Amino acid sequence: MDLKEKINLIKKNEAVAMLAPTFAIDFKYPNIIGMLRKLGFKEVTELTFGARMVNWAYANYIKEHPEQELFIASPCPTVVAMVQHQYPELIKFLVPVVSPMEAMAKVHKKFNPNCKVIFISPCWAKENVEAPKYKEIDAVITLKDLKQIFEQEDIKEENFIENYYFDSFVREYTKIYPVSGGLASTSHIQKLFQEGEILITDGVENIKKAFDDFKAGKSKYKFMDLLNCDGGCIGGPAINNKDLPTEKKKEIIFEYTHRSSEATMGEHEGKVKDAKDIDLSAKF
Ligand code: SF4
Repeated sequence: MDLKEKINLIKKNEAVAMLAPTFAIDFKYPNIIGMLRKLGFKEVTELTFGARMVNWAYANYIKEHPEQELFIASPCPTVVAMVQHQYPELIKFLVPVVSPMEAMAKVHKKFNPNCKVIFISPCWAKENVEAPKYKEIDAVITLKDLKQIFEQEDIKEENFIENYYFDSFVREYTKIYPVSGGLASTSHIQKLFQEGEILITDGVENIKKAFDDFKAGKSKYKFMDLLNCDGGCIGGPAINNKDLPTEKKKEIIFEYTHRSSEATMGEHEGKVKDAKDIDLSAKF
């Protein structure tokens, strides 16, 4: 789907934007919410509720498989592809739970089957590798695409200075998911392992070392929280400001997390309990 088709999908449908928290590296909050509404989105949401559901599913899966020697977190499609193509003997250790993107898309489709779900992404792997596997995601727009679209449509940040609010499902703490270790630190998995059994790392070389050590019987880790890009999704290649130092990007995400935790829930109030029966299982 080219940019023109993506713009038409937004303008002509009940389009729902699902923002990965990495957007804060490129766009001002809350201006971005007003800008996306102006573009034509009916709802503007974050991935955070999907991330929370994924946390629950991870904790349940780990509790149900006490005999399993290793669990590899699977929200990054590039890590999943690396396991599938370079370490096929480790596929059985990938946690068979969908990513926050797909979990949140399922939530939207459950409550409004006619909506068009569009994920705003820091990388192309979400668009080209992961999203095509799931019917609930109608399109992916990268942060680079989004900047271009705003320019084409003459939508300027400085014209959206009101106090805009997300159409939220919950007030959230999972906004730090895109920072390396976000999954392990926001999920309930920490209490399911002993100290030193959780590995949090990012970057191809570190991930390969972790897998090679495990294969050689030299690993003490039972849970691996791995993201392909440096620093996690904040290092995603489709972020406009990708060359900012990693520490600066982390600072932006933490500052945004702190500032935006006052989200109102509006019409989504009370829906959390109805989302609990959504199937979050994945196959690798
Ligand atoms: S770590 Fe990088 S490749 Fe993986 S999902 Fe995040 S941005 Fe995409």
